Amino acid sequence: MTQASKTPFLDLVAPHQELEEELVQVFRNALRSAAFIGGPLVEEFERDFAAFCDTEHCVGVGSGTDAVRFALIAAGVRPGESVITVPNTFIATTEAISQAGALPEFVDIDERTYNMDADKLQEYLERNCDRDPHSGKPISRRTGRVISAIVPVHLYGQTADMDPILEVAEAHNLIVIEDACQAHGAEYFSKKEQRWRKAGSMGRAAAFSFYPGKNLGACGEAGAVTTNDAALARKVRILRDHGQGEKYYHEMEGYNGRLDAIQAGILGAKLRRLADWNELRREKAQIYRELFCSTEGVLLPFEPEWTRPVYHLYVVRVARRSEVQNYLKAMGIGTGIHYPIPLHLQKAYRSLGYREGDFPITEKVAKEILSLPMYPQLSREQQVCVVASLTECNRPQDEAALLVSPSA
Ligand SMILES: *Cc1c(COP(=O)(O)O)cnc(C)c1O
Repeated sequence: MTQASKTPFLDLVAPHQELEEELVQVFRNALRSAAFIGGPLVEEFERDFAAFCDTEHCVGVGSGTDAVRFALIAAGVRPGESVITVPNTFIATTEAISQAGALPEFVDIDERTYNMDADKLQEYLERNCDRDPHSGKPISRRTGRVISAIVPVHLYGQTADMDPILEVAEAHNLIVIEDACQAHGAEYFSKKEQRWRKAGSMGRAAAFSFYPGKNLGACGEAGAVTTNDAALARKVRILRDHGQGEKYYHEMEGYNGRLDAIQAGILGAKLRRLADWNELRREKAQIYRELFCSTEGVLLPFEPEWTRPVYHLYVVRVARRSEVQNYLKAMGIGTGIHYPIPLHLQKAYRSLGYREGDFPITEKVAKEILSLPMYPQLSREQQVCVVASLTECNRPQDEAALLVSPSA
């Protein structure tokens, strides 16, 4: 029965085969017009992606990391300040904060959604910070720095609970930049506004990554900032292009962080399929849910009624994870861990001075999370095989040892 890679963790070949002619045409056109950086393909994609996200502006940049960094700088985060995010995210979130000259600080996540816990955010701002009399912003007692922004991350394709996060931010005069790098097309039902809102349209600005494995992926590196703030969008355009508004007239020092035309053309073609692909991911999630219904010891993703997730990743929790992962691997099933080491415990952040035990929820789930194969082309037979293998290997020998402990 063992077969190499029967069900890969990710399939990046199939979606491109479907589109091969169209994508090659993009490349041909770019060669013939020699418009490689900027130009009409980039502008057209920016318009289309802004429309997809329900925002007025979209600025294409070189990567998701560029997008978070430029959004923070353009929104007004200054060197020497602090920015709050979660320890359960990809390091690009905090790299961008540091590269903007700020210091990352963390608050723990909600155990059910794995995203920022708004109560813990509020508690942190109220109990661990003083208020700066001039700006009204919190000053972190931990770092002595002014906290100027919050970066909630819409991890795994599900939005953070934005109503309370936006409310806390407003009360403390903080900028909110969404890290939507895993959440293209995800939606959030705002009770406050009584409507569904798109990921990327809720903060002052948002960052998207088009890394190949994301729900909308380029055939190389790419990213984008979305916003409804025209001045912020203009600033990002300048930042991505060496600080120039007009060629060789530099208003400031910027970066080389532009989106190239070939990637924009490719993204434009794939964007037309994104809604369908996201719907297919949701269907696969539903199939997993049905197939797993009688399996014990596997905690499935929690989908609150206020989210419409796009399942960038399908993350379950199991005890004895490495055993499970090895068994699945032997059965030809690829899995991933997003992420095995919380950021506050990474060597790169030793200087921040955090310790084990500082963020108990993140630390606990980091030991149990397992990402199963999830992509639009995943077949039902593959899913049946994943579930059968996981059920088989997770069969309780010692019941008590196997139970993960869901919070509520
Ligand atoms: C992928 C990702 C990024 C960074 O995007 P790149 O395009 O790889 O620079 C940032 N944040 C999160 C949560 C991501 O998943």
